[in-house]
Amino acid sequence: MRFVQQRHRPPQQLQRPRELLVACCPLRSNVNLSRIVRAAGVCGVPRVICCGTARVIQRIARDGAETVELEVHRSLPPVLKRLREQGYQIVGLEQTDRSECLYQFRFQRRTVLVLGNERQGIPEEVCRWLDRAVEIPVYGLPYSHNVATAAAIAMYEYCRQFPLG
Ligand code: SAH
Repeated sequence: MRFVQQRHRPPQQLQRPRELLVACCPLRSNVNLSRIVRAAGVCGVPRVICCGTARVIQRIARDGAETVELEVHRSLPPVLKRLREQGYQIVGLEQTDRSECLYQFRFQRRTVLVLGNERQGIPEEVCRWLDRAVEIPVYGLPYSHNVATAAAIAMYEYCRQFPLG
């Protein structure tokens, strides 16, 4: 028996629309943003919210560049406030003094996953809007993941908890 690779297999159908959104603090790198958009597309995330001069690189985001809606804002707090009013739980993916471990964390279906800047992480004015903070255990150096890697790990865990939406 051999394993036969299947290329471009049609994606798994969700039974209900994904209620996970991703919100990025202003990022330094459009490569990271584009990697996040690609992972978001694969995970069925309908919308990525970002700030500033964000621009998606199609070669990196691939079909995510077309399938994921990119919403660009001046800053995150007003957007997070509005989403919280719409019933979203605002979850910061960040290493903080009170972060919960991703291994135990139970996501709410309606979640905004907030990602930090490559250098500064999630700044204080955005931290104020977080309902929860979750971190990925680190076992070696450097002290943190690349932001797009961390985003993919967290989106994977959300999808594991809500495999059909
Ligand atoms: N605060 C980091 C730099 C940020 S890493 C430092 O100490 O230098 C960029 C972003 O990736 C973070 O803001 C966070 O959103 C995410 N990230 C990276 N590693 C993470 C981890 N182990 N747990 C949770 N989020 C992480």
